[in-house]
Amino acid sequence: MSNNLKSMTEAEIGAVLKDMEQPAFRAKQIFTWLHKGVRSYDEMSNLPKPLRAVLAQQYPICAPEVVRKQESKKDGTVKYLWRLHDGNCVETVLMRYHYGNTVCISTEVGCRMGCAFCASTLGGLVRKLEPFEMLDQVLFTQVDSGLPVSHIVLMGIGEPLDNFDNVLRFLELVNSPDGMNISMRHISLSTCGLVPKIDELAQKKLQLTLSVSLHAPNDEIRNTIMPVNRAYPVEQLLDVCRRYYQATGRRISFEYAMIDGVNDSEENAKELLRRMKGLPAHFNLIPLNHVEESPFKPSSRNAVARFQKTLEDGGIPATVRRTLGGDIDASCGQLRRKYTKEKQ
Ligand code: SAH
Repeated sequence: MSNNLKSMTEAEIGAVLKDMEQPAFRAKQIFTWLHKGVRSYDEMSNLPKPLRAVLAQQYPICAPEVVRKQESKKDGTVKYLWRLHDGNCVETVLMRYHYGNTVCISTEVGCRMGCAFCASTLGGLVRKLEPFEMLDQVLFTQVDSGLPVSHIVLMGIGEPLDNFDNVLRFLELVNSPDGMNISMRHISLSTCGLVPKIDELAQKKLQLTLSVSLHAPNDEIRNTIMPVNRAYPVEQLLDVCRRYYQATGRRISFEYAMIDGVNDSEENAKELLRRMKGLPAHFNLIPLNHVEESPFKPSSRNAVARFQKTLEDGGIPATVRRTLGGDIDASCGQLRRKYTKEKQ
């Protein structure tokens, strides 16, 4: 893990300060400032100036710069493209729901999962994000927008469980009472289905919502759109979901991107019902966002409605996700992709 104070817990910052022969109470002061999104130690007005100077030299504060900001005129959704300290870019989306302002963050620069319909994976994985780089997306979205953030979804660029330790540290940080204090129940983590990592996460018994990107009722279809399915087929994935539910008591939310003629028939919905037996779940049906490079098209409204009804009649609650920010390239990786292509 990086040597960045913003990736450290309050106790770890305390250990750093102890080595500098500083009093213990400084750890809380510094942690609190960092988690407000300051850009410099000079903003830490209750620290002695000499200490600020030493910290600035040994632990420089990194903060992302806004490269692009797009605001939806329709629903107030704001999309940020940030430049990180090494020049790489990631996206964050701020969505305004009735229950609170929700930030959708990226967990990696690019992605190596290769889902056929997703813009984030087109250029492969560049690198994983450090804990503070995930935290910064929340902090600086809040600072820039002036809107208090109460909910977080890990559904931006990247596969969170492919960056397991850093993501877990980020969750610990954002949940800290002296930091943003965001409740685990207000956090959703979405995965394409890395089975061993889901088992590992289950053991942590966090109260967050696990979202699983299922997108198909069987291996035949899932293999064609999600390469990860060749390593962890549907049956194994649903088995780990059962174990996850047993370990945590948390109902899993399944994501299902509706793709015209691929996974949206009534037969597909019925097969899903058979497969899901005995597994408490909720389905989020997402009409596919069209990605330029991809041959896939969104399902028709009728197909989505029919699919939803079949699931609900079979006893599985299913909602059709409202598409926010449709006018601002707000789906996974689209803005970064556009920016990278423009620069070429
Ligand atoms: N890697 C994680 C989280 C990031 S993507 C995962 O796979 O779950 C968040 C969700 O958006 C996933 O369900 C993903 O499959 C879906 N998604 C990606 N591209 C999409 C597109 N073009 N249209 C609709 N949903 C898409």
